[in-house]
Amino acid sequence: MSVPPLDRSTIWPYEDGEPGEFYYSRYGNPTTAAAENLLGELEGGSALLYPSGSGAITGLVLATLQPGSTIALARDAYYGTPVLFQMLARWGLEYVEYDQTGPPPEGVDLVWVEAPSNPLLTMPNFEAAAAHAAPLVVDSTAATPVYVRPLERGADYVLHSATKFLGGHHDVLLGAVVCRSPEDADRLRQVRGRTGIVAAPDPAWLLARSLKTLEIRMERHTATATELARRLAEHPTVEQVRYPGFGGMLSFDVRGGAGAAHRVETGVRRITNATSLGGASTTLESRRRWEGERVPEGLLRLSVGLEPVDELWDDLARALDR
Ligand code: PLP
Repeated sequence: MSVPPLDRSTIWPYEDGEPGEFYYSRYGNPTTAAAENLLGELEGGSALLYPSGSGAITGLVLATLQPGSTIALARDAYYGTPVLFQMLARWGLEYVEYDQTGPPPEGVDLVWVEAPSNPLLTMPNFEAAAAHAAPLVVDSTAATPVYVRPLERGADYVLHSATKFLGGHHDVLLGAVVCRSPEDADRLRQVRGRTGIVAAPDPAWLLARSLKTLEIRMERHTATATELARRLAEHPTVEQVRYPGFGGMLSFDVRGGAGAAHRVETGVRRITNATSLGGASTTLESRRRWEGERVPEGLLRLSVGLEPVDELWDDLARALDR
């Protein structure tokens, strides 16, 4: 299979005096469209790329809601999602939080869940969420279409921070929304084009490249994370391990609270003490610094990369035993 070209043009000539499929890059670009087709096939819908996951959230909210609309948001969704909704409160957006393992509250205009949630690793009750009258958004950043295809489970929109596993190498900032209906995708495309919350061709090209290895990377993330979750659960310093059984993200609580978590995160050498997840290299951080009391003091989030499992375990065990 040939590699799709990277087209950085912002304009393309009209055809017989009329705009063709691509004419101005705020409305569409062939490289971005090629990556969108690949992601759309994986999720079974119509994909749109945005410059980040947060840009995708903003684009989706602006296209589907209006002042006075209320979102039912999973309580343990990525902490940046409610922070963004709070910023949009000035524009009339409201949200209520709920436990995504049960049914969403009535009387809301959009239901927003996360599969699995970051970093508490709960899975949504898909049946209850899909049975709700409001459209359903599933942030599937940590699951990827390798493990969960939300459109087949009743979702109307799948959201990704493609910065994470889809990009997969800590070198692409990108987001995506995949729509079940082509009409919804058209509406999102209109708002995206007018607001200019548009992905550039270079990250889109890197995403298309990364999607070729997505399945094999996810399998490796899962194999290593499963083994590390097992070994962590047996370690005397570890109070609790959260891992849904698939993917590369897990979290665990260390005995001794914030001080102990700080010792572990600054004690790793092979593993990078940094934020984000989904890359080929493993990252670890205490989430308390960002999320405050939403998470236990001693919670560490581990994004398991593609390194040999024993190298990762030796590093973790050394840091835990300090
Ligand atoms: N959704 C989830 C589950 C995330 O973890 C993140 C980022 O950490 C986002 C959305 C936001 O994505 P981005 O950082 O690409 O804007």
